[in-house]
Amino acid sequence: MSFYSKRCWAEIDLNALRQNLAWISHRVGDGVSIFAVVKADAYGHGLKEIASHLMTCGANGFGVANLKEAFDIRQRGDGWPILMLGACTNEEREYAIRMNVMVTISRLKEAELFLKKAEEMKRPIQVQVKVDTGMGRLGIEPKDAIELVQQIKKMETSRYLLLKGIYTHLAAAEDDEVFTRNQLLAFTEVVNGLKKKNIFLDYVHASSSAGILFEDNQLFNTVRPGLILYGIVPTGERIITHRIQRFLSPALSLKCKVSFIKSIQPGKTISYGHTFTAERQMKVATLTAGYGDGYHRTISGKGYVLIRNRRCPILGRITMDQMIVDVSSVTDVDCDDECVLIGKQGEEEISITQVAQWANTIPWEILTSLNYRVPRIYIGGSAS
Ligand SMILES: *Cc1c(COP(=O)(O)O)cnc(C)c1O
Repeated sequence: MSFYSKRCWAEIDLNALRQNLAWISHRVGDGVSIFAVVKADAYGHGLKEIASHLMTCGANGFGVANLKEAFDIRQRGDGWPILMLGACTNEEREYAIRMNVMVTISRLKEAELFLKKAEEMKRPIQVQVKVDTGMGRLGIEPKDAIELVQQIKKMETSRYLLLKGIYTHLAAAEDDEVFTRNQLLAFTEVVNGLKKKNIFLDYVHASSSAGILFEDNQLFNTVRPGLILYGIVPTGERIITHRIQRFLSPALSLKCKVSFIKSIQPGKTISYGHTFTAERQMKVATLTAGYGDGYHRTISGKGYVLIRNRRCPILGRITMDQMIVDVSSVTDVDCDDECVLIGKQGEEEISITQVAQWANTIPWEILTSLNYRVPRIYIGGSAS
């Protein structure tokens, strides 16, 4: 039996996901592979369901951040190319080989350790070289990249290590055009250097969401979209056209319910720390969601929610499981009314970008904060 309680839940529209992928596919054009990034439980959307859905929508492969994620994808469909975006730990090497996951290599030693293990296990490992053009996280410096690729190429004669690709990661594509162009230039030089040596690789890539939106003339032959796949545009200094925003629809809505309504008199205080005091008579509603579901406590006193198509300001501190909102203007509000924390209701919409601003963070963190207590309910696509 499966049981969940619909107090705070996420509705995930699989059709939106399909459309977003179709738009990305159109934007990057023929001949460019799309590795759907599904790390962190597919950005909180539920890895297993999202991966199986994307397998039917034209994704060419998947990007993950750990091997449990790779394992979950393998269970849903075998044979899909999976790229592990982080560097493997010692214990992960064996599992990467066993699950046939492509791994990221930043230095020769890593490749040697993989080759040794692969020979021991008599199973080949596929690798991609990472170049650090400005992210400063993983990767080899561009000036040493060609040398590393050549050394790894030599290991291919063993048949247990195969070089499948080369990539870099942009650090500020939504903010800094000059910095980004320099990163792409450094990477292009490496790729051209390899061409001169007659080294051509299956997967050559630089762009995640922001790169796809802002640098679409420099996509090489593969892209790694995360956020835009889920319908959210990364916002920064660089301006995105409204036209593009219209093509992407957020797949996730976050909802909860009204559990209690009462009138309060002037002077009455609300929630922990009594940070809010009523200045007039008000009608307030208690909701069935809090920071324990992943709705950030830093939104206290700043945000609003939607009830009966109206904006209702959050009063006082958000608590672990409940919060209190002002429903004075919602004459017909009733217990069990549906309340939207993220998403649309009537003409109103609260975007995840807006919620992230209230919480002083980024949409990625809002999505990955939604925890196991929040059931994911799938609509559209094969779920309907
Ligand atoms: C997370 C990640 C992505 C996806 O990034 P988005 O901005 O969500 O599109 C792509 N590549 C790497 C290396 C990542 O770590």
